[in-house]
Amino acid sequence: LAEQEAFNIEYWLLEEAKLQRMPKPKSLAGRVALVTGGAGGIGQAVARQLLSEGACVMLTDIDAEALAAAEMNLLKGSSRDNVASCRADITTEADIEAIVHATSLRFGGLDILVSNAGIASAAKLEDTTLEIWQRNQNILVTGYFLVSRAAFRLMKLQKTGGSMVFVASKNGLVASAGASAYCTAKAAEIHLARCVALEGAAHGIRVNVVNPDAVIRGSRIWDGKWKEERAASNKIGSDDIEEFYRQRSMLKLSVLPEDIAEAVYFLASDKAGKSTGNIINVDAGNAAAFTR
Ligand code: NAD
Repeated sequence: LAEQEAFNIEYWLLEEAKLQRMPKPKSLAGRVALVTGGAGGIGQAVARQLLSEGACVMLTDIDAEALAAAEMNLLKGSSRDNVASCRADITTEADIEAIVHATSLRFGGLDILVSNAGIASAAKLEDTTLEIWQRNQNILVTGYFLVSRAAFRLMKLQKTGGSMVFVASKNGLVASAGASAYCTAKAAEIHLARCVALEGAAHGIRVNVVNPDAVIRGSRIWDGKWKEERAASNKIGSDDIEEFYRQRSMLKLSVLPEDIAEAVYFLASDKAGKSTGNIINVDAGNAAAFTR
């Protein structure tokens, strides 16, 4: 009997080891994602994460040159069958209709929208021109409306549900001095997500938000002028900016594009199947409290 038991245990251990070696099915296999702002730091990290989980990814951005470079980067770790790119301006209705259509033609549908294209903008209220104000609303509100409406129509038609994730900002919840146009637009972006979530629920379409705080490494927003301005307004050198934000955070951690990508992936996947109209702040604690 003891011999039989020993044999059973050995057999069971071998079977278990075999199972461990077997490749696990990827969580987004067969899903199609569209990522706006795909040439940027966060967009690229998101695309990389979705690809690694098995999704097919269409990247789009207004900057054609940077978009081509981003696609080449992604192709280093992925098959040409799973990645494509196409330039589009999110504020142009025809571009958005075309990119959603192109995604569907290329990959056979659309399951995940990551609405992430955006800008950074700072000006004190009295220095905010109508042009600055309208640019922020145009890209961050009208652009997000156009992209989500086009994705919504297709997802509804497909009758297979879908998931949208808006990359907004901590500044959509917490006002920041000297950035009223940007903060207001980001707040509207968050509320738009809730409205789309409400209408999408009946069709199995979930809509959630990821709010980053300062993501300096990898972000094109933080190249050049913006970094200089933020450094000057905080009375520090531009090389000290990442350390400044790290020290200011509750967790004393820098937020990276990959951290945003993890949260986007979670919300886009079935792991968040019971979440809609929700927000994840990836901000090292900054939306909850100011530490100085
Ligand atoms: P990024 O500049 O690296 O990427 C943004 C991309 O959006 C750029 O490639 C840009 O060309 C593209 N874009 C701008 N306007 C567009 C338009 N009209 N149509 C299509 N594409 C357009 O910046 P990022 O840090 O990757 O930012 C991604 C998102 O995260 C943005 O919505 C931004 O507001 C938000 N965010 C960023 C930070 C940060 O500190 N990096 C903080 C909070 C929120």
